[in-house]
Amino acid sequence: MGEQSGFKDKWSRCVDCGQAFLFSEGEQRFFWSKGLEKPKRCPDCRELRKRTLARAHHG
Ligand SMILES: [Zn+2]
Repeated sequence: MGEQSGFKDKWSRCVDCGQAFLFSEGEQRFFWSKGLEKPKRCPDCRELRKRTLARAHHG
């Protein structure tokens, strides 16, 4: 209910490296619009993970 207009910048903690990262209002809106869960990892770890997965796909 009515949560979609209540986005505010939030701090989260990365499950991989443990550093705090900002989950910005714009990102929250993006994640919400895609029906995604909020990120558990900082942008650095997300990027690293993406690359690792991409490489795993190539074999
Ligand atoms: Zn991290």
